[in-house]
Amino acid sequence: MAEKFNWYAPSSELLKCPVPSCNHIGSIITKIHCRLEHGMTRDEVGKMYGMPKRVLTYSENQIKARDAEWMNII
Ligand SMILES: [Zn+2]
Repeated sequence: MAEKFNWYAPSSELLKCPVPSCNHIGSIITKIHCRLEHGMTRDEVGKMYGMPKRVLTYSENQIKARDAEWMNII
């Protein structure tokens, strides 16, 4: 379950395809993308390259504000 979720970005975030030579970014890394671009199933891509990287789409100020919040919590 948790593993499957990682191919779908949480709201306000995007995912980058884990294949190093691939710059595909989207809210979902689709099975079709893996097959067409890499000739592999999504499971095979995941095993070989790991799960997609999360790409934050927050603005710089939002990130700074959030970091400050985390500092206060810690
Ligand atoms: Zn890709």
